[in-house]
Amino acid sequence: MRKEFPVIWFQGAACSGCAVSVLNSLSPNIKNVLLDELVPGKHINLLFMPTVMTASGKPAVDVLIDTEKSKKGEYILIVEGSIPVGHFGEVWGETMENAVENLAKNASAVISLGTCSAFGGIPKGKPNPTGVRNVKDFLEQKNIKVPVINIPGCPPHPDWFIGTVANLLLFGMPELDELCRPKLFYGKLIHENCERRPYFDKGKFAKKFSDEGCLYELGCKGPYTNADCPIRSWNSGVNWCIQAGGPCIGCCEPEFPDLEAMYKKTKWSEQNVE
Ligand code: SF4
Ligand code: SF4
Repeated sequence: MRKEFPVIWFQGAACSGCAVSVLNSLSPNIKNVLLDELVPGKHINLLFMPTVMTASGKPAVDVLIDTEKSKKGEYILIVEGSIPVGHFGEVWGETMENAVENLAKNASAVISLGTCSAFGGIPKGKPNPTGVRNVKDFLEQKNIKVPVINIPGCPPHPDWFIGTVANLLLFGMPELDELCRPKLFYGKLIHENCERRPYFDKGKFAKKFSDEGCLYELGCKGPYTNADCPIRSWNSGVNWCIQAGGPCIGCCEPEFPDLEAMYKKTKWSEQNVE
């Protein structure tokens, strides 16, 4: 008999891009993720997820509240998006702050999906008009001690999310870095595995887009950004930012998107490149 793992997917201050990215998973297909066993004998039971659920209004919220009360310590809470102050963010008649506080208190683990949730991301960009906080900081402010896994990315790769959940079901908490990201996916710098690295090492730099060469002088944040995009690639292995000719914009790091101009060589890059 298969074991059920209840999951609640809460959406805070976000654009739903993280949901769309994960729903586009092809290997495994999202249908198999949701309907079949994600790992042998274990099934994700996604009970609440605004982007895809057919229920709406009170019946949908009743399921969420019932899960919170009847499955304490059993369900995984996924939070997509950051948490605005007070009435800048409201859901089903209460603030997002209250909703996340109550849901997180009773969860077995919290997955902060996407850079908005993990670090604040776009909603936290200066001047942060709604006072958002990332989920981990918010829970620490509320003194809620639940394990948190950050899966940043704007958006995150579907493999980063599904691989982390599979790891959680099979082995428990994955090994995390100092920013609570699974080392499995965020353990190396983009710069370490970049296919344009030989150009960097020879000092051959692109001066404008479409030039041959390393994109460092066009503002590439690869020397600072931890993620496995160069070896995993995107859209089921079709392409990724640097292969497509665009510098890495550092979307998996806490400083995104405020780290100076995305397409400008920064003082920061000069200090960090080795
Ligand atoms: S600076 Fe960017 S483009 Fe150049 S090698 Fe590093 S990651 Fe690749
Ligand atoms: S290459 Fe950089 S900007 Fe592109 S998805 Fe990966 S971490 Fe984000």
